[in-house]
Amino acid sequence: MKKMTSEDVFKKNIMELVIPADKVAHVQSINPLEHALLVLMKTGYSAIPVLDRDSRLQGVISKTLILNNIVGIERIEYEKLGERIVESAMKKNPPLLRVGDDLLSAIKLSIDHAFICIEDDKGIFQGILPRSSLLKFLNHYLRDISRSVTDQP
Ligand code: AMP
Repeated sequence: MKKMTSEDVFKKNIMELVIPADKVAHVQSINPLEHALLVLMKTGYSAIPVLDRDSRLQGVISKTLILNNIVGIERIEYEKLGERIVESAMKKNPPLLRVGDDLLSAIKLSIDHAFICIEDDKGIFQGILPRSSLLKFLNHYLRDISRSVTDQP
């Protein structure tokens, strides 16, 4: 396989690392919290994107946000899972990049977020860029560099 150069890294198209929208588990903001919790439990993800009916990003919902939303003073109010909707618990303004944004912007956002949402220039959700995909790519590049250093006479 061809060795990567620093130029390959800086010019990397982030879309090559993105999980496309049709493979991303998501919920809608009008879904009950119970539905979101079921999706999170069944997929095993701790957080997933929230979209509207037109595939526009609304926020992110997680198991922790749901539990915080239904915790009462003396007990966990499980009945609220069926009464409240995702919008009441989701985090708005999640980390977001546009399709043409560069890899460095993605790395910067990934410091604090396990995944970044990607939208096109019309605001339509295109998928997510997980931190692990970035690390895998950088690991590949850094290994290439370390091999070239040790291969030198
Ligand atoms: P990973 O880096 O693969 O562990 O993914 C980081 C986070 O991205 C996961 O904990 C999920 O919150 C989210 N994630 C990864 N893949 C998917 C997917 N196919 N659908 C929804 N969320 C995902």
